[in-house]
Amino acid sequence: MICLRCNAENSEEAKFCKNCGMDMSYTPPTKNDTLKQSVLFLLIVLGWHYAMFILWEAINFYVRKLTTSGGNNTEVLTIYKVANWFGTGSTVILMLILAIISKNNSLRIALIIFILIRIALNFSYLLTS
Ligand SMILES: [Zn+2]
Repeated sequence: MICLRCNAENSEEAKFCKNCGMDMSYTPPTKNDTLKQSVLFLLIVLGWHYAMFILWEAINFYVRKLTTSGGNNTEVLTIYKVANWFGTGSTVILMLILAIISKNNSLRIALIIFILIRIALNFSYLLTS
């Protein structure tokens, strides 16, 4: 068995490389594994955005009922503020975790750009409201 790190010849049953100590059971991730992981991560991000979209619609529905039954504006603003922070916070944390554990550099860069846009949008929303 050839060591993947230092190319030293080791016996077939060796657990670690006798030259550098590399774990001999280690198999490097293939391109296919990385691709599968990237697709999964993108689906998770997309799914989460849809879940947040549905949540947002549900909140709008609830707020409409609240305002027609004479609910006050501060209550509505608080609901929107909490929903906004929850939506942005959870989405940013999710994308950050996926960016850190992703094996695909392009996906990592894309996720970091999405995170920055999301944070910028949230701050512009805060400044205008
Ligand atoms: Zn080695």
